[in-house]
Amino acid sequence: MKKLVFVTRNPGKVREIAALLKGKFEVVGLDDIGCNDEIPETAPNLEGNARMKAAFVADRFKVDCFADDTGLEVDELGGRPGVHTARFAGPAADSDANMHHLISELQGSACRTAQFRTCIALIIAGETQTFEGVCKGEIRSERSGREGFGYDPIFAPTIDGKHDLTFAEMTANQKNEVSHRGQAVRKMVAFLSASV
Ligand code: IMP
Repeated sequence: MKKLVFVTRNPGKVREIAALLKGKFEVVGLDDIGCNDEIPETAPNLEGNARMKAAFVADRFKVDCFADDTGLEVDELGGRPGVHTARFAGPAADSDANMHHLISELQGSACRTAQFRTCIALIIAGETQTFEGVCKGEIRSERSGREGFGYDPIFAPTIDGKHDLTFAEMTANQKNEVSHRGQAVRKMVAFLSASV
């Protein structure tokens, strides 16, 4: 079976996509190919970062691979933090600090709309394809829920015009059905399934 490297060190992310491509591709992560390099992600936008990460691994290890990059774009902040989502509250910020920072920046603001955007760059036999997923929603001023990760406790996706639950109040499957990453991954899986 053809091997496909996911440019990530998160085994949970690898398992999720391995299940979707079962029987078609063997999906492995960076640890499985012995990649200990610091992968550069210094592009000015999400697509650039996804392309940069995938190109680095394809060049260095001569493998087919894909990389993703995700950002939260808040309307009231003119699309920030965007490509800087992981480090919104500073270079060593964790999710807790990032959520605190975002809640503070939006304090008193009536406009709470935002969207998560995921870009995936896939390189097969030297050819690059990109896929994108967007999930619109709103930013809560208080955290709710314990599932997920990152900004999940304060991001409530728009479903049928409503914002009843945050991502952190949903099961992984519920989140996957509507999420930015779920949409981008399904597009890539459809492409790969058609190509095998
Ligand atoms: P990455 O591109 O997956 O490394 O994510 C970049 C930033 O976005 C990190 O701060 C993540 O915590 C955050 N992030 C990515 N995806 C999600 C999500 O589905 N929910 C909440 N936060 C996310």
